[in-house]
Amino acid sequence: MNILFAAAEVAPLIKTGGLADVAAALPSALRRLGHDVRIVMPGYRRILADATQVHGPIATAFLPVGDRMEVMRIFTTTLGDTPIYLLDIPAAFDRDTLFGDGDDDRRFILFARGVAALMLHLSERAGWRTDVVHANDWHTGLLPNYLKTVYAGAFSTVAVVFTIHNLAYQGFFNSFTAYLAGLDNHGDSYVNFMARGIRYSDIVSTVSPTYAQEILTPEYGEQLDGLLRTRQDLVAGIINGIDYDRFDPALDPQIAANYSATDSAGKAICKAVLQRECGFAIDPARPLLGMVTRLVEQKGIDLLDRVIAWLIAQTDADLVLLGTGEPAMERAFAAHMRRNPTRINVQLRFDAALAQRIYAGSDAFVMPSRYEPCGLSQQIALRYGAVPIVRATGGLNDTVREGYEGNGFLFHPYTPQHLADAITRCLRCFRDTNGWPLLRERGMREDHSWATSAQEYAALYEWAARVL
Ligand code: ADP
Repeated sequence: MNILFAAAEVAPLIKTGGLADVAAALPSALRRLGHDVRIVMPGYRRILADATQVHGPIATAFLPVGDRMEVMRIFTTTLGDTPIYLLDIPAAFDRDTLFGDGDDDRRFILFARGVAALMLHLSERAGWRTDVVHANDWHTGLLPNYLKTVYAGAFSTVAVVFTIHNLAYQGFFNSFTAYLAGLDNHGDSYVNFMARGIRYSDIVSTVSPTYAQEILTPEYGEQLDGLLRTRQDLVAGIINGIDYDRFDPALDPQIAANYSATDSAGKAICKAVLQRECGFAIDPARPLLGMVTRLVEQKGIDLLDRVIAWLIAQTDADLVLLGTGEPAMERAFAAHMRRNPTRINVQLRFDAALAQRIYAGSDAFVMPSRYEPCGLSQQIALRYGAVPIVRATGGLNDTVREGYEGNGFLFHPYTPQHLADAITRCLRCFRDTNGWPLLRERGMREDHSWATSAQEYAALYEWAARVL
């Protein structure tokens, strides 16, 4: 299949969140399956400035927005073996900021128009007919809308898939935006880019099967659950993979000793090194809990805050936490460390190397998220043999299974008591010196690579082509 993958950010060229990692890894994994995947993204100033890697322009077009016509030049670059089209639209992207300047509607109208112009160019001049357009998050929400209305004649055979990576950011503007876009507003007083992506695409997907069900409910639906329910037979969930080359305890150069499921001696060394680094007792028999997280409400940080006193008084577990985020939460955890410096270690910074040492050195990894569309951290923890203790929501529910027959520990009701119970079950298992290694190794052997997810996306594209 010829697949055009549209995203506002692609790592490492531009990254503000998890979307950028997906936009880099998924096209490459699909290419390994034999599909011709190409990426299209904004030609931000800082990418185009790196002229040695950028070629072109290969084409020029004029894009309507409101009563203006803005010029676009199409440049190319590559990421590994994946071609990337960079849409150089100076009115939208020739600036230092990425988002939030107050004209994001105009900018991403132009991007969506630009993608349609690129598709016309490729089919008319380069002999490359798009079979599938894969749009991602609100920045590309108008693309399905244009392809199914304004450009429906030219692209009637193109299947359109729209993936929600974060439902909380929707691209919400007033009705003037519909005039700028040249799109029918059906009498509404606003334009919601995410809603348009959901309404006009052939298939809607999100980043885990459980989250795909949860967003159909008012609790998780961010006001779009009603619209999503009208399309629920066409909503799917596919879990993101992790980068198996980068996150591999057998090769990771950032940890004290390498190890694998069949040879776990190195993990014991990593644990001792982490215990010393934290100022904890260096003792293989003491359970060591790790966390690497943004310190925000989504991550269930308030639950953790409320179980620390219990953890100190009622268990022999030590806890190391790496994270940054809300100042009130940072202060609360700094205070926990001051009160119990030999049991709690808190590092308030972003530190990719320390994150690896925590995954490698911890016995268990705590992730009590309020909601979690997919979650990478628990998948990294599994690969590094840090048994996950997670709340049963979103992608956590799809990757972690309870207890001896599973790979970790789950709780559901969002209460400190239920989190404490899950930690208790984990610590009981930890003391079972026969059962614990089996549980840990089962998680380490699982396949959380992109190869599996890419196959599911390929099936999703075929489904989209059938229902088109
Ligand atoms: P989210 O994208 O919602 O923050 P994920 O679990 O999907 O959550 O991905 C988080 C990623 O960021 C993981 O790879 C995690 O290790 C990393 N991370 C989070 N906070 C830090 C930090 N303070 N230092 C280093 N890495 C971090």
